[in-house]
Amino acid sequence: YRDMAVNVVYKSHNAFNRKAPLPIGSIQAIPRLYAEQKAISKRLDEKRRCRSTIGERIRLAAKDPTEKHLALEEAKSLKEEVATLELKLEEVEEELFRVALGVPNDTHPEVPIGPESAATVLSHYGPEPLPAFPHRDHVAVATALELVDFEAGAAVSGTSWYYLMNEGALLEMALTNYAMSIAIKHGFMPVTTPDVVRADIASRCGFQPRDEQLDSPVSQMYHINHYLPELVLAGTAEIPLAGMFANQILSEDKLPVKVVGLGRAFRAEAGARGTDTRGLYRVHQFTKLELFAVSSEAHSEAVMEDLKTIQLEIFNGLGLPFRVLDMPTEELGASAYRKYDIEAWMPGRGSWGEISSTSNCTDYQSRRLHIRYRCKGETGLPFAHTLNGTAAAIPRLIVALIENGVRFDGAGNAIGLDLPRVLQPFWVQGGRRDLI
Ligand code: AMP
Repeated sequence: YRDMAVNVVYKSHNAFNRKAPLPIGSIQAIPRLYAEQKAISKRLDEKRRCRSTIGERIRLAAKDPTEKHLALEEAKSLKEEVATLELKLEEVEEELFRVALGVPNDTHPEVPIGPESAATVLSHYGPEPLPAFPHRDHVAVATALELVDFEAGAAVSGTSWYYLMNEGALLEMALTNYAMSIAIKHGFMPVTTPDVVRADIASRCGFQPRDEQLDSPVSQMYHINHYLPELVLAGTAEIPLAGMFANQILSEDKLPVKVVGLGRAFRAEAGARGTDTRGLYRVHQFTKLELFAVSSEAHSEAVMEDLKTIQLEIFNGLGLPFRVLDMPTEELGASAYRKYDIEAWMPGRGSWGEISSTSNCTDYQSRRLHIRYRCKGETGLPFAHTLNGTAAAIPRLIVALIENGVRFDGAGNAIGLDLPRVLQPFWVQGGRRDLI
């Protein structure tokens, strides 16, 4: 009982720190609902067993009208009892699932407590940041160099939609393949993912796609089918990648399993405001290459460091000034136990901008998706740990590369871009030679 009381205090406090306060009594309700679910399941199994033998009793009592009548009555009442218990079980399971989904993951003890401003800067990389200079603004430069058509995007789809064109489109491909090549070198299996996912899989990953939660920062999904199965556009390839492992039992000696998924991310960005919505910084659709790993419990913190090392290699290769942050509790969403963000310096915006995010979700997603592993010589099947990290979120990389790499003529007009050499092997030839 003491452990349970301590747990309730921890979970409530943790949820409060993560800005996901729990309705009073909801944590205590979980063990009660779970016990109720088990008890109903047991009773249901017993009744179903009785039902499976009653046919035989009716057959044997064929010549004894009283016994036959009794057996028929019992069959009728068993049928009703099973139906009632099935209904009750469904109600309790639904309630259990609803309450449990509201409980966020536990938090790593070193995570700073508070809002975004409480993030700890862990380290800086790359060249000295250029001075802030509004002339380097990526919207003006990309428009002048005909790399992005914002007007056509707005006319065809709405604000925060865009067309990449010329070297802008080639840059997307080169960046994707460059980051992919590094992930593959580190043992990640390349995958292309479905961009449409069942809403149920999204919520098991910690994203709440329901309409009533559209104001929440994590509920940013476009619904494409309100009927069953409810379908949404994936906000990140993390969702289909995690879903790939649902209901699997992996062998511990094969862990960590590492995949790198290329998908389109769709974000409704409800409630997004201000300067962020200008240009490519916060858009509704973008290409994203995502690292995803399934690990044993003992190694997930080491795997998180490995993901970070790969990201450092990718962004150092691009020659960007960037920094790594340990994100505070209010930025962890429902699923992350710990999260590192990487921010690149964007001189046109005059600020650091997030280009990548890495999360250790420990067993939060695998409990909801039933991803387990078998350890040699042991009988239990522990839940695996899942981790995800951005290898390349294209539009923000383009913002950083344009604002850091733009070349001007003597009159201050943008005339070209200095792009990192590492992209050369991945560049589709045919662009305007004088520009890049
Ligand atoms: P998230 O899955 O929200 O952690 O985002 C992963 C990465 O995608 C971020 O680090 C950003 O680089 C990028 N990103 C997130 N939202 C947007 C958006 N609306 N538009 C462009 N890039 C985004």
